[in-house]
Amino acid sequence: MIMHHAISSQDGNLFIESTALSTIAGQLGTPCYVYSKAAISNNFLAYQSALVDKEHLICYAVKANSNIAVLQTLAELGAGFDIVSIGELERVLRAGGDPAKVVFSGVAKTASEMQRALELGIHCFNVESEAELELLNSTASSCGATAAVSLRVNPDVDAQTHPYISTGLKENKFGIDINLAAQVYQRAAQMAHINVVGVDCHIGSQLVDIAPFVSALERLLALVDELAGLGIALKHIDIGGGLGVRYDDEEPPTPQSYMSAILPLLMDRSETLVLEPGRSITANAGVMLTQVQYLKSNGEKNFAIVDAAMNDMIRPALYQAWMDIQSISTGNSESAVYDVVGPVCETGDFLAKDRPLSICAGDYLCLMSAGAYGFVMSSNYNSRPRAPEVMVDGDQIHLVRQRETIEDLLSGESLLPAVVR
Ligand SMILES: *Cc1c(COP(=O)(O)O)cnc(C)c1O
Repeated sequence: MIMHHAISSQDGNLFIESTALSTIAGQLGTPCYVYSKAAISNNFLAYQSALVDKEHLICYAVKANSNIAVLQTLAELGAGFDIVSIGELERVLRAGGDPAKVVFSGVAKTASEMQRALELGIHCFNVESEAELELLNSTASSCGATAAVSLRVNPDVDAQTHPYISTGLKENKFGIDINLAAQVYQRAAQMAHINVVGVDCHIGSQLVDIAPFVSALERLLALVDELAGLGIALKHIDIGGGLGVRYDDEEPPTPQSYMSAILPLLMDRSETLVLEPGRSITANAGVMLTQVQYLKSNGEKNFAIVDAAMNDMIRPALYQAWMDIQSISTGNSESAVYDVVGPVCETGDFLAKDRPLSICAGDYLCLMSAGAYGFVMSSNYNSRPRAPEVMVDGDQIHLVRQRETIEDLLSGESLLPAVVR
């Protein structure tokens, strides 16, 4: 059995920190997301301690898990934040995060988003196109502000990950072609309301190999040196996020070994290192709990029909992601190989396929490594209220998001006015 950071097994019972998952499922019902405060903290501290000898800013990628209690945990450790919308920026503020440590990524920032971020004085805009640069310059001008800018370049490196989460190839929509970047920097340097401060890239997600990170950084450094020759001195180099985690039998580098591979390239340089890790901070710090409603067999296949669906956790349906699933068994069950499927009316609605499990109706199941790209990607499809989120701290259970109610589901909708004939 694979042991995940936050989860341990004692006498057939699964625990998160010192709290039994069955207790949480019993108290709060299922489906339910559960996070470990200690695991989130430890994952962040692993980056921080690997970087004691280098000036750095670790900007947690909010989109991986944006619950404000998660952001609060990280803000208290001194984290910065990588955001992709104003909604995420408002979450950071609510959680006590420092806007001066926020970098703003994303290909489609609007003028009103730019305005709000300028007003709060964020660390930097990661600009993804020339058109965006122009809008940012004119927006800053009308606010009487100057925007700190990093250009997100596309280093054309193959991250060798799933095509949907690979972002650093020429064919992807992200960033500015690294071969054209020097020209764009020269334009930016002449804009009255733009202050060029850095360069960034983000080549993909769930990378299990260090080599693509090193290639990307080498290309970035060549650009930084070229720019210095043109009189454009950068203050920081942001190499994005993307470090993978273990879902199955992957062996991704630890933050420590990742940093020791790239730090030699940066040691004699004055630029601050900025990182944007998301998944590697929260994925293995969380699980999703669900309950078996029915067992069903069609002769060829056994199905465990559970109360969580693709609207609660879309990764298996969207990316064919493999996620470990373990039973929190009541003991009186028989072993079989199951497809674990949900209530949503789509054939793509599954959490796991062909898994040996000892279960019976009523048992709880624990979907592992669900702390990143889990709740944040959930929806109300099939009019299903979204699950609650819980943060465990030792033996303390904190409900950090309530289960949605039917009232929540309908709020904001209205009927057409009555027709008067
Ligand atoms: C998604 C994203 C991240 C975080 O990626 P992880 O794989 O979760 O570490 C960082 N930076 C940018 C620009 C992103 O889009």
